[in-house]
Amino acid sequence: MSMVWPCLLTVDAYASMGRAVKVPRPDCPSCRGRVVFWSGYWRHVRWRGRCRKIFIRRVRCRACRVTHALLPAFTLAWRLDAAESAGAVIGQVASGRCGIRPAAAGAGVPHTTARGWVRRFAARAGELAVSFAALAVELGGEAPRPRDDPRHLAVAAIGAAFAAAAALPGWGPLGPWRFACAVTGGSLLAANASSPYLIIGRRRFMPPRST
Ligand SMILES: [Zn+2]
Repeated sequence: MSMVWPCLLTVDAYASMGRAVKVPRPDCPSCRGRVVFWSGYWRHVRWRGRCRKIFIRRVRCRACRVTHALLPAFTLAWRLDAAESAGAVIGQVASGRCGIRPAAAGAGVPHTTARGWVRRFAARAGELAVSFAALAVELGGEAPRPRDDPRHLAVAAIGAAFAAAAALPGWGPLGPWRFACAVTGGSLLAANASSPYLIIGRRRFMPPRST
């Protein structure tokens, strides 16, 4: 299982720190027990057309012995590209500002990659719109007004939830797409993800520290 922590570092800063990135230690998301750091693994992330190698810390629960990877909020599970890249493409295409090809060029990713993100997002748009609108309201914000395009509504709902979260300490600097990635446990564009709302209930992400 993986968890997402609200990392504010740029991709380049995170990558250049190697294993030295200071990662907050969560409670076990399964049993709330105490965890210890438990090695980790290297993976790649692509940002602004460049691939960087990053180290992902793992923790292991002392009680239930399950290990969890701690993904920085700019990483999407099973995706090479940074969350902001995918979010920029999705946001532009879903709101009708431009087509997939110019959005892909702007993000420095292949056209086919961008098309895959938009399709995956479209397939989950209804569920994401409902979940993020509910989260916006739960956080004291307002649900987005209806839109004809479900993808546009989902993007608006993510924006509304982020706007509400940004009023709380620590969330604002993350930006909407790292926020969306954190709330969905990195599975914003995954094929078979549980809803973000459930992940919030199970605390599979770590809220920012208020101090
Ligand atoms: Zn546990």
